[in-house]
Amino acid sequence: MSIILKNANYFDFRQNKMLFTNILVETDSKKKLMTSSDVNDLLENQTDVRIIDCFGKLVMHSFVNGHHHSYVSLTRTHKLTNTDDFEFRLKTGAWKIDQFLDADVLEACSLYSAMESLKNGVTCVIEHHSSQNCIKGSLETIEKAFKKVGLQFLPCFEISDRKSYSASDEGLDYTDSWLSSHPGLVGLHASFTVGSTTLKNAVEMASKHKTGIHIHVAEDPVDEKLTKEKYGCSVVQRLELAGALSLKNNIFGHGLHMDVKERTLVRDSGTWMAVNFDSNLNNRVGFFTSTELGDRIMLGTDGMHSDMIKSAQTALFAGQNFDKVGWGDIYARLRNGARYLHESNIPHGSNNLVVFDYDSPTPVTQNNFLGHFYFGLEGRHVKHTIADGKLIFSEGRILTADEEIILKESRKAAQLLWNRMSE
Ligand SMILES: [Zn+2]
Repeated sequence: MSIILKNANYFDFRQNKMLFTNILVETDSKKKLMTSSDVNDLLENQTDVRIIDCFGKLVMHSFVNGHHHSYVSLTRTHKLTNTDDFEFRLKTGAWKIDQFLDADVLEACSLYSAMESLKNGVTCVIEHHSSQNCIKGSLETIEKAFKKVGLQFLPCFEISDRKSYSASDEGLDYTDSWLSSHPGLVGLHASFTVGSTTLKNAVEMASKHKTGIHIHVAEDPVDEKLTKEKYGCSVVQRLELAGALSLKNNIFGHGLHMDVKERTLVRDSGTWMAVNFDSNLNNRVGFFTSTELGDRIMLGTDGMHSDMIKSAQTALFAGQNFDKVGWGDIYARLRNGARYLHESNIPHGSNNLVVFDYDSPTPVTQNNFLGHFYFGLEGRHVKHTIADGKLIFSEGRILTADEEIILKESRKAAQLLWNRMSE
């Protein structure tokens, strides 16, 4: 079934244009959106079409989350360890959580995360997943949950030697089998928890599957410090020496503590940076700056939440104190998630759209759109979300899954996970 969004106030970010129009949205992701001031033009050749009157509401493309960890979605309250010791934070936070995940708890995490993403107008999540005691089948579990809700995801499994070499070998084997039949990347935790053999094998595997690596880079100074102590070079130099910078479609998360040489290497290799301001602020690890990095920068949430509007707003409000960035720069970074998918040949069509019930006290125009985006718009304004041409969220209700059941199961799984973590 096709959808016509009638009387839409459509903001086309590619052309930076606001258009009052009618939009035909089809399920074929290769087809471009058709717009016309006359609905009858769009109805031609359509046999099965649903018309949604937007009554002048704001319509724009949905969002892509460039770096997320759905597996921490049931443990919000466990992420607040009050210490500056980054390794201790990891040991008591994400690394502790990932040890206690099994398939059932992971399914609950993933369903909740997909639901939270959808409610905030996100239709694709680039997932960096870790469950070191539940490796095989973990990405299939997340995939099933995301498909159920109707969202696209591009995953990797986080390979690391931090638990054991047998776990990193299992992570490598599992990644090999996943990439043999699915799109994705080769996931690595960070330089300081990945030894030479594992790094070499990961780069070879990414090369074999013609994909990139997705890794945290210089999130905290400890990554650079330990890498220099163990390997005598910086994090990015180490990745370069291992051949990782020759790969296509790499994603480096964070990148706060890279020096100028590392930044130049990242830029010249075409590697993408995924920036996560909310997470950085919470972890007190420093502030991202884009100096020497070029324009391959996108935004993520790093598991803090699933709201890309909030992520972009924080990236501006915090980022402008440390970086020469304006409204348009951060908005471009938000939209770069879709550009990354396009460059990586991952289909993500223009048939992914959000209708906002934005109760603005002033008119929204092409010239003031970005002001509204940063100072007015919130996830709560999402009225309809169309993913891959299908209406999957409407009037506060998820149409693909039962929210009550997901929440009930999430709370049960969360209690189970918390009990395991406190034993
Ligand atoms: Zn992360």
